[in-house]
Amino acid sequence: MTNVLVVLETRDGTLRPACLETVGAARLAADAGGGGTVTAVATETAELDAAALGSAGADKVVIADAGAHSPDGAAATAVKAAKDCGAGLVLVAATVRGRDLLARIAAGLNTGFAADCTALDFTDDGFVFTRPVYAGKAITKVKINGDIAVASLRGNHFAPAGRDGAAEMGTMAAKAGKSVVTGISTKSTGRPDVAEASRVVSGGRGMGSAENWSLIEAVADAIPGAALGASRAVVDNGWRPHSEQVGQTGKVVSPELYIAAGISGAIQHLAGMNSSKVIVAINKDAQAPIFQHASYGIVGDVNEVLPALAEELAKIQG
Ligand SMILES: Cc1cc2nc3c(=O)[nH]c(=O)nc-3n(C[C@H](O)[C@H](O)[C@H](O)COP(=O)(O)OP(=O)(O)OC[C@H]3O[C@@H](n4cnc5c(N)ncnc54)[C@H](O)[C@@H]3O)c2cc1C
Repeated sequence: MTNVLVVLETRDGTLRPACLETVGAARLAADAGGGGTVTAVATETAELDAAALGSAGADKVVIADAGAHSPDGAAATAVKAAKDCGAGLVLVAATVRGRDLLARIAAGLNTGFAADCTALDFTDDGFVFTRPVYAGKAITKVKINGDIAVASLRGNHFAPAGRDGAAEMGTMAAKAGKSVVTGISTKSTGRPDVAEASRVVSGGRGMGSAENWSLIEAVADAIPGAALGASRAVVDNGWRPHSEQVGQTGKVVSPELYIAAGISGAIQHLAGMNSSKVIVAINKDAQAPIFQHASYGIVGDVNEVLPALAEELAKIQG
């Protein structure tokens, strides 16, 4: 039997949606490991929905009483929670914060970790984690020796369990950290984060200018829940913020739909999006490498294709 701890990520007291997928993965792991308990810990005070977390797969939810996020404090709280629940596996979402916590938690538990996993299997020999490496060119299978493993899970590769019943709610004393995040300033676009959205409309240098992003936005507006993405060339040009960059030095996304407009398909960009379920490429160069990875390809000028696409999508939305 393996008990699993999920370290939840909250922002301003609200749960990040990717965590429900992590809880779903934890449920599968606990069930595969002989029917253990899934405990989810919020490392700082948050308003959490017992029904939603129970449905996602959590048996218990523990909320720590920290008022603000502290990277080392949150890791210490997670380590304490892992020991309290006798966890054999600790999971976090592979978000920016999750990446920060992962190594700290593994160090606190004196074990190893597997980062950015896309699959998790239970074998006779314990858990085996699947993770893409070398910008997605190879896949490794990782096993962590010892009694406890720590891993971060990539978004959109796992799903909430979708079962009945609310999680049991509890509290714990937070561990104090040496550093505390006193504030985060973000530019709110009113759109979902590109790493969490199930639909992404992304633009590259072929868009020509920052002003032309209205074409990308018009397509995104016609697709419910769509986020905006960008290549590094675009971010380097200052056309879009780094928070929208997809790729090796940006965010890794795995949406249901990824529309790449005016993006050539460099390996560093592909590293961030080639596990998307459906890829639509729009490029005026029929030889652009992106077409080798696309489910659907449109050879044409973004200035003509995107407005036509937005118009047709708007008709579907009614
Ligand atoms: C260490 C390292 C890390 C990197 N990390 C990242 C990363 O995280 N993300 C990332 O994206 N890149 C990254 N890069 C950069 C990467 O190598 C490419 O330079 C970059 O992805 C190119 O962006 P692009 O496709 O927008 O531009 P380009 O390669 O210039 O491609 C533009 C495309 O637009 C097409 N086009 C031009 N005009 C039109 C038009 N009117 N209509 C339709 N199509 C048109 C062209 O045919 C072309 O295919 C990294 C590079 C390095 C060395």
